[in-house]
Amino acid sequence: MNDADAGTAPLIALEGVTRAYTSGEGTVTVLRSLDLSIMAGEMVAIVGASGSGKSTLMNILGCLDRPSEGRYRIAGRDVAQLTADERASLRSAHFGFIFQRYNLLAELTALGNVEMPAIYAGLSPGTRRARAAALLGRLGMASRLAHRPGQLSGGQQQRVSIARALMNDAEVILADEPTGALDRHSGEEVLRILDELNAEGRTVIIVTHDMNVAARARRIIEIDDGRIVDDRRSGADRAPPPAASTAPAATRPGWRRKLDPFREAFRMALMSMNAHRLRTGLTMLGIVIGVASVVCVVALGEGSRQRVLANISELGTNTIEIFAGKDFGDTRSGKITTLVAADAEQLARQPYVAAATPTVSTQSTVRLGAKEASALVNGVSERYFAAKGTKLARGSFFNAASVTSRALDVVIDENTRKALFDTAGVEPIGTVVLIGTVPARVVGVTQPQQGGFGSSQNLSLYLPYTAVQTRILGSTALRSITLKIRDDVDSAYAAQEVTRFLTQRHGSKDFFILNTDDIRRTITSTTQTMTLLIAAIAVISLVVGGIGVMNIMLVSVSERVGEIGVRMAVGARPVDILQQFLTEAVMVCLLGGAVGVGLALACGVAFSLAGSPFTLIYSSGSILIALTCSSFIGVAFGYLPARNAARLDPVTALTNSRQ
Ligand code: ADP
Ligand code: MG
Repeated sequence: MNDADAGTAPLIALEGVTRAYTSGEGTVTVLRSLDLSIMAGEMVAIVGASGSGKSTLMNILGCLDRPSEGRYRIAGRDVAQLTADERASLRSAHFGFIFQRYNLLAELTALGNVEMPAIYAGLSPGTRRARAAALLGRLGMASRLAHRPGQLSGGQQQRVSIARALMNDAEVILADEPTGALDRHSGEEVLRILDELNAEGRTVIIVTHDMNVAARARRIIEIDDGRIVDDRRSGADRAPPPAASTAPAATRPGWRRKLDPFREAFRMALMSMNAHRLRTGLTMLGIVIGVASVVCVVALGEGSRQRVLANISELGTNTIEIFAGKDFGDTRSGKITTLVAADAEQLARQPYVAAATPTVSTQSTVRLGAKEASALVNGVSERYFAAKGTKLARGSFFNAASVTSRALDVVIDENTRKALFDTAGVEPIGTVVLIGTVPARVVGVTQPQQGGFGSSQNLSLYLPYTAVQTRILGSTALRSITLKIRDDVDSAYAAQEVTRFLTQRHGSKDFFILNTDDIRRTITSTTQTMTLLIAAIAVISLVVGGIGVMNIMLVSVSERVGEIGVRMAVGARPVDILQQFLTEAVMVCLLGGAVGVGLALACGVAFSLAGSPFTLIYSSGSILIALTCSSFIGVAFGYLPARNAARLDPVTALTNSRQ
């Protein structure tokens, strides 16, 4: 304010102000070339019939709306040249609005409503709470601080809204039909308060269509059809006392003030999420499902990978199998007889080989009394079991002596034991079974193999390979040789050496090599690809969830225009509104993400309780990524609705709220 002519220059000056609305058929001119000046400390009543343009004028005065033509100056500053943010801070610092319908936020308490302007002005929480309580106390509301608007009478609500108008120590109180919705007594009370405020030196502008109310003012301006038709004064104006500012100055470190809006936005978001619990829950559902599936799928992939790898280790770590033939399914492999026991003996002497065990195999029937089944007969050496990591359930493995003596000692697997001995009630160890027509004595039973990979319904028998070659097959050819590679040797190197050695020995490459390390690598990369693929699908569901969030936020914004209008009227800048809605979107998504992670963990527990063959192994990485993703989705999909909210015109927002 310019001090030099503070006494003579008007606080508010309108020159030729016109306000026209463009509607479907054309333009509606509501205010027509209005000239008006109001001095600081005046108490003015604006009267006129309904629809004459009083509220429109009021909104322009309060910088909620702008004239289509003409000039509006406040304390000499042209409002047309102010940015949206500057207008917001003008509203915040200089104007206090009192509305006919109070326009309190239903989710906030009386205290919360009164505090709101100070939040946007950057006052510290303690100071503003104390000030709000003091103001409410002054207006006789000390016992109603924690009441919500719905729990207050009309008169009480209007007193709350007066306290809110005074929160930032407004110089100008703009009251648009403040008594319109009140009974006589409450109306009188409100007018008495306004009178008092004027006596303190504040400029009070009341819009009313009630001449009794207007009579309280010392200046009455009458509007008809957008024009001032009368401007009369009754009695002398009060000499404006020096307006001593009682508003505590916002003298706090910059970073604290910068942090405050975030905290407030966070609090507001929580409050509005709580107020619309069902809607918030449904909005979150998409994110919950998306995050839960991402985390679950990744955990499932990791679980199966580790399980498969464990199964491979069960097959024997660091082993190489050499088969006769070109590849699996080579029809001639049965006829290739070049892979012989001598190869195994020679290979066993190689420096990189810890053990070499030859295997032969054939399919044959196995019989015990009347029981008969088809089984895979494996001819192996005594070292085979150690190389494969096979464990015994009972009995023993055959030894080197059995191999040299071609003993018909047989180790049976669990499937065979079930097939032959379960119903017979005979102790397997020591019992003689018939393999084809050859009798063999059971010396051991192996433990069942764990889980998926490698376990089967097949029956397997293990005999010394020498016995199988001579007694059953009548051939010295081997099916394969299993090599256990020394621990300090790389299996790829060993495979290469074996290939070189055998090719030289046989004169041609009539064998192929299966390396468990290769299998391990292949399976790892396959499960990783699968996990990636399914995770990608889950991410799509996350995006769909994000679109859901955007939808609901858009609805939420249009539902809460009134709230946005009120916030803007008390000084919220567009960026404050943007922040509030963005925070809400991010919190919905983040909360959804957290619930989703919880759900995924619960899934894992449920899986293991149900004894499912799947194991879920969670990585903190995937959980972190899921949560980051969901907050990112909140920002990405919350931005559009939040921006829509921030772009709302304060006056449009307020007008719509009244309908
Ligand atoms: P009142 O004196 O009753 O407060 P208002 O200022 O609210 O009157 O409205 C004056 C006129 O302007 C009314 O005829 C109303 O229909 C019109 N009006 C107000 N706002 C708009 C708008 N956003 N678009 C079009 N016409 C409007
Ligand atoms: Mg009106």
